[in-house]
Amino acid sequence: MPRALFIADSLQINLKRNCHLNMRILKSSKYKTLSSRKSSSRKAAILPTVLVHGGAGHIRDDWVKCVKFGVKGAAQRGYKVLQKTGSVLDAVEQAVRVLEMDIHFNAGYGSVLTVDGDVEMDAAIMAGANLEGGCVTMARDITHPISLARRVMEKTNYRFLAGDGAMSLARNEGFEILPKGALVTKASQKLLQIFKTTNTDTLYNVTPGTVGAVAIDACGNVAAATSTGGLTGKLSGRIGDSPLLGAGTYADNKSGAVSATGHGESIMRYNLSSRVLALVQHKDYAIQQAAEQILKQMTKRFNQTGGLIAIDHRGQLGICFTTECMSWAYQQANELHCGVTVGEDEVEIVNETSE
Ligand code: ASP
Repeated sequence: MPRALFIADSLQINLKRNCHLNMRILKSSKYKTLSSRKSSSRKAAILPTVLVHGGAGHIRDDWVKCVKFGVKGAAQRGYKVLQKTGSVLDAVEQAVRVLEMDIHFNAGYGSVLTVDGDVEMDAAIMAGANLEGGCVTMARDITHPISLARRVMEKTNYRFLAGDGAMSLARNEGFEILPKGALVTKASQKLLQIFKTTNTDTLYNVTPGTVGAVAIDACGNVAAATSTGGLTGKLSGRIGDSPLLGAGTYADNKSGAVSATGHGESIMRYNLSSRVLALVQHKDYAIQQAAEQILKQMTKRFNQTGGLIAIDHRGQLGICFTTECMSWAYQQANELHCGVTVGEDEVEIVNETSE
């Protein structure tokens, strides 16, 4: 099993304010390593941030550029929305919508296929201020399950809708219902073929990635969102971790926000997101250390891999994966960071208000 663990001490946000180059690869050794797993008790101002991921696993060599472009665009979009509306929920929803439209990711258009060749999508969104959340599963023929999840939260008395019920809400809310098969791509069909000939249940290691976003505003409000087509070759009706609050998605202003990716059956059994945030809230762990510890434990316990992005209530970031790769990007002020492989942290200076 791949066992790369991204020790992103760099992502404890020691901002390199003197970064003048437009783009460069920062070696993580340039960053200060945390001397303890405890978070710093010093109160620092919170910098609004939007952090996204494009899934843990393997990324085809010929897709790396597009995947980086995709996650960076999503982070920038989310950040712009955060600046404009001041809403972390809007920010994570809009960031995820960008990736749902991109065929290089396993969400919305480009979702992987069930064993019958259909698209069945899961999504969840959660606000840390009031612990409100909305979840959908077995959503079909819509491009933006994440927005449907938000409608579940805001327009119904319920918090989780599945299948026909979710689709009937989509129709009532005016979502465009696409012709059957419109979300299916050549790449997802090819993956299903591979799945059927190799008969492996860990194909997420070679598929495009689930997508997710977490965000924080200057007041410490956090939100999380995750959207996915699930696993290639899954049985119709299979539900992954992504729409399960506490497993693939969670947000609480008292601790932080997490969006996870990887082997859904392991992530849900381990309650991954909740465990990470519990270490922050109850043991005062730094978010990166909490993420590394819990993800390592999960990987060891189930022999299955995954990844996650997180922001804690102080605005510190956690990025961690036990797969070969995980694409991620975040914008904070005028810095746009991005990475795919272990230790990679490309930084661009962007116009704070541009997309
Ligand atoms: N966690 C997703 C699922 O199991 C898949 C992924 O993240 O790649 O549905």
